[in-house]
Amino acid sequence: KLTFKSDIEIAQSAKMLRIEEIVGQLGIEEDDWEPYGRYKGKLSLDLFQKLQNVEDGKVVLVTAISPTPAGEGKSTVTVGLGQALNRVGKKTIIALREPSLGPSMGIKGGAAGGGYSQVMPMEDINLHFTGDLHAITTANNALAALIDNHIHQGNELNIDPRRIVWKRALDMNDRALRKIVIGLGGPVQGVPREDGFDITVASEVMAIFCLANDLEDLKIRLSKMVVAFDYDNQPITAGHLNAQGALTLLLKDAIRPNIVQTLENTPALVHGGPFANIAHGCNSVIATKLASKLGEMVVTEAGFGADLGAEKFLDIKARYAGIKPSAVVIVATVRALKMHGGLAKEYLKNPDLEALQKGMPNLEKHLETLKEFGVPVVVAINKFVTDTDEEVAFIKEWCDSRGIAAEEADVWAKGGQGGEALAKRVLETIETEENKYKPLYELNVSLQEKIETICKKVYGAGEVQFSPKAVKQMKQFTDFGWDQLPICMAKTQYSFSDDPKKLGRPKNFTITIRELKPSIGAGFIVALTGDVMTMPGLPKVPAANNMDVSEDGKAVGLF
Ligand code: ADP
Repeated sequence: KLTFKSDIEIAQSAKMLRIEEIVGQLGIEEDDWEPYGRYKGKLSLDLFQKLQNVEDGKVVLVTAISPTPAGEGKSTVTVGLGQALNRVGKKTIIALREPSLGPSMGIKGGAAGGGYSQVMPMEDINLHFTGDLHAITTANNALAALIDNHIHQGNELNIDPRRIVWKRALDMNDRALRKIVIGLGGPVQGVPREDGFDITVASEVMAIFCLANDLEDLKIRLSKMVVAFDYDNQPITAGHLNAQGALTLLLKDAIRPNIVQTLENTPALVHGGPFANIAHGCNSVIATKLASKLGEMVVTEAGFGADLGAEKFLDIKARYAGIKPSAVVIVATVRALKMHGGLAKEYLKNPDLEALQKGMPNLEKHLETLKEFGVPVVVAINKFVTDTDEEVAFIKEWCDSRGIAAEEADVWAKGGQGGEALAKRVLETIETEENKYKPLYELNVSLQEKIETICKKVYGAGEVQFSPKAVKQMKQFTDFGWDQLPICMAKTQYSFSDDPKKLGRPKNFTITIRELKPSIGAGFIVALTGDVMTMPGLPKVPAANNMDVSEDGKAVGLF
């Protein structure tokens, strides 16, 4: 039996350069960054201003087919491709999201890539890193405290405690906090009301953090966040509570992009990290744009399958940030395709061409969607040791026969070297294919039409059903003038439908829009489908059970 080093073993035996060397190689001057220990740094926001006239590097987005619970290796391929592009002579910066402790403690393990394609120091990145997520959590909860205090102190704004939409946040999977009652214990303890927690990475503060262009924009967006409705059903914002200054202050250091390195010393900006199923799924605009000033190319990632992260990257982030992605790389794995072909989880490691073939429609649907956006696409087959040559060749031939660029990526086992073919293919595709990127929908159509467009064109739904609540909200939001915003869908990542059990490429299904949430500061309307949760729970055997610290203080069990 073959044995492999775990991600953390590889990471712990790697030789990192001091962060000043990485920063120095990018020509960043001393005043434009600050070290956070030996291997992490934060770049100043002024740097962007200084580099204003530098031509933008090309942005390559990495997405995936509908994933298995373990993830299909988007972060791994993002890091591997970034390393590979550097090897083939393109100065490339990687722009990733910061991991959330929820999935780390739950089932997914870390999110700093894998094998020989990881960002470092992976222990820090997977735990508290530079404290950004804590700062975001604190800003979120400061606003919650201000709301409840306002009501306690006399409620001048006439806030209806039954219509407070702002929730508290915690960066943890903790289902017991989904619905709570606060303010119990009599007049001195505040006003009792129903409340609840979202995971930090689903919060609007996180979304704003990732969509803001600069500090001023951050403040303006924070002030626009709708926190509640008053007794006349009019929206109350963070601005009404005059909270934006304090919240911006709490975020002023966090908002500066973190710089780290990969195992091959490629620079990586790891900054911001909303989930893609219940939020918009992309790292910060500030980091992506800065990376494109610092490198000839940027490889960035959007969460979960192309139906979620990539759709939101292309319809929300790129539109707001004025980014025109040069290409999209879609990660496919033999194991996930076999799962979509009906093979049970415990057999995914066994060769099975028939299941693989049956699973291809999942990739096919994602490719059709990306085509709608008009961006050049390359399929990256993320190689697992259990894949047979026949299985990999099958996917390649399937793509070839349809005129779709596809390459194997062996970056988990071989690092950048294993991604050179993919890197060259990406460069060639950018050179030769016409880029007709445009968002899927115009902003000036109704909320209903936008939601239906995504459900039908991206998911392949036959019908979209709106709950009575959602219908009422669409009308209300339109009256408030919020109907010109893009949509951020909240949907399970496992299926194109809102039922996580419908794998492959389900057809003619009905999708149910349960409820809408205004994220006016972020600049989108969230549409919640099925029973997707904005505060996840832990599984029966959480990854946390395998975590420990060795006697010499090293992390154990972070995958
Ligand atoms: P995603 O970004 O799609 O969620 P990740 O890149 O975080 O996926 O990878 C999820 C897990 O799978 C990581 O622990 C990583 O080490 C592992 N992994 C990724 N690619 C491979 C591969 N080719 N072979 C083995 N393990 C892999």
